[in-house]
Amino acid sequence: MIQPADTPQRDDAVNWFIVQGNQLLTDHDGKIPIADITRFPLAELEYTAKIGELEGMPAYVLVWPKDVTVPDGLQWTPLRQLLLVSDSETFALAGKACQVHHFLQTHQYCGRCGSETVQMETELAVLCPQCDFLCYPRISPCIIVAIYKGSDILLARGSRHPEGLFSILAGFVESGESLEQAVHREVLEEAGIQIKDVRYRFSQPWPFPHSLMAGFTAQWHSGTLVLDPSELIEGNWFALTDLPKTPPEGTIAARLIATVKAEVLDAS
Ligand SMILES: [Zn+2]
Repeated sequence: MIQPADTPQRDDAVNWFIVQGNQLLTDHDGKIPIADITRFPLAELEYTAKIGELEGMPAYVLVWPKDVTVPDGLQWTPLRQLLLVSDSETFALAGKACQVHHFLQTHQYCGRCGSETVQMETELAVLCPQCDFLCYPRISPCIIVAIYKGSDILLARGSRHPEGLFSILAGFVESGESLEQAVHREVLEEAGIQIKDVRYRFSQPWPFPHSLMAGFTAQWHSGTLVLDPSELIEGNWFALTDLPKTPPEGTIAARLIATVKAEVLDAS
């Protein structure tokens, strides 16, 4: 990978989001970004890219070389953990840092002709100098939907969720499908029910590794709950006044559950 020329110097005033895989370099309290990297034992800044601004200062992703020891007082913190300890603006940049790293790491060579790619200076993309193939970071749209029936909400536990944690239904949008079609298909496939009053609410980038969640609410219309055992371990209708453990604040699932809860309980 060939770097753009406007890469900052290590003593520039920059918010550094330092990544290695899906982890960020933080202090022991999980605080990011890192402001001063002058004392770090880096021979060169392996690769960097601008990912935005934070508090009036440019924010850059910096990939930490695998063979260099982490300085005292700092540690690697998984991106997922930062969701719980960071404000949303900082977490968004941390997520973008990991996504950009993932993108650059998986696009070092042209997918069409195999030549080494060049990082673009004007936009976040890589270009093949041999065949002009241009690649942008991949974003995978997903839908997530909070379904209610009277004053109950449908919650289920996916095979990757820890014991006792229930969430709302979600799934990837397929090629050629609209978001609304994906909502109806996923709900029918995973829960065996038909829904109505499907309403788009808000979205959230979900950098694990490159999803964009589009959040909906919907009302049960017909059908009996039959869960798809290949996706869901358990699930049911839960009274909105007596919910089990659900995803933490900061997640779009928590926001959608709170939206349904407020609206349904207000109306009753
Ligand atoms: Zn090429």
